[in-house]
Amino acid sequence: MKKCNFCGNRHVREAQVQYIYRHDEKLLLVNNVPCEQCEFCGEKYFKAQVLRNIELDFKKIYSAGKKAKKELKVPVEEYKEVHRHSPGTAA
Ligand SMILES: [Zn+2]
Repeated sequence: MKKCNFCGNRHVREAQVQYIYRHDEKLLLVNNVPCEQCEFCGEKYFKAQVLRNIELDFKKIYSAGKKAKKELKVPVEEYKEVHRHSPGTAA
């Protein structure tokens, strides 16, 4: 039985999650990536091969012109903009 390296909990189960690969300012989101996830703290464990496959796909998309299944437009904010109160807003 595996145990979580992070919290020591023994309930680590198979899961499929969204993985965000980031390199410089570029992102790749991959859905339904197999991993093992701690039921207690949520820490995820990926096989090295899985991460290599994602990295390879990232390179294909950004360097070899592979077309991804779907593209998202992602808004980017600075926290001070998020935090700013609008005039007239009761806190
Ligand atoms: Zn844990």
